[in-house]
Amino acid sequence: MSNIQSAPETLMMGYGYKPELSEGAVKCPIFQTSTFVFKTAEDGKAFFEMAHGKPGHEGQEMGLIYSRINNPDMEILEERLKLWDGGEAAAAFSSGMSAIATSLVSFLKPGDVLLFSNPIYGGTHKFIHLMLHNWGVTSIGFNASDSKEDIIKLLEANNAGGKLSMIYAETPANPTNDLIDIEMCSEIAALYSTPGKKVLVAIDNTYMGPLWQHPLKHGADIVLYSATKYIGWPQRPDRRCSHWQ
Ligand SMILES: *Cc1c(COP(=O)(O)O)cnc(C)c1O
Repeated sequence: MSNIQSAPETLMMGYGYKPELSEGAVKCPIFQTSTFVFKTAEDGKAFFEMAHGKPGHEGQEMGLIYSRINNPDMEILEERLKLWDGGEAAAAFSSGMSAIATSLVSFLKPGDVLLFSNPIYGGTHKFIHLMLHNWGVTSIGFNASDSKEDIIKLLEANNAGGKLSMIYAETPANPTNDLIDIEMCSEIAALYSTPGKKVLVAIDNTYMGPLWQHPLKHGADIVLYSATKYIGWPQRPDRRCSHWQ
């Protein structure tokens, strides 16, 4: 068994979960706790330092601290989401907007240019125009019908090429289902990347979900989801839309 590479469909049954850490429960219990106990004060110190990225802890295993930072259920969700997209790492947040806002503020700084696809989810639109604008990030929207040449012209007309830091696309778009070519976005990003600065491509994949579209395979760097749509829907046909009845 051990050398068989199982498909994500199979791995969803138990991947990332160790029953021996939960009294042998076959399915992961829901850990409704904010704070975890450390075996020793030294463990606590090491876990906090590791959580804040302090080097010098090679070989030490990370432990649970506080549910906003890590929690068994959240870690299993992250591990399993990572499988569908073939990602290196995943981070779960309390909402899709929280994941989107955190990604934008983490990778953009004052003076940067953000290129984004239009139309875009209302919450994201507001965050870009009201919040990022106030923090000195210039945002330039392109349309789903624009060609690669049109978008390059748009960047050049705004004298934005050198300051471009991220291309953010939502595809299919909410609510129009407009499609954006992810590979085209990564080609534009490559055009404006330099050895010292990679222009990132972030894709909101909420509408297709992690089963049907894998943006990382088309050159994206970051994939974002809201779990209120495709991911959160019941998948069994007989239960489809049961929450509307
Ligand atoms: C709903 C939605 C969001 C926001 O997600 P929340 O979990 O409600 O914060 C973001 N992007 C898209 C494409 C959405 O449809």
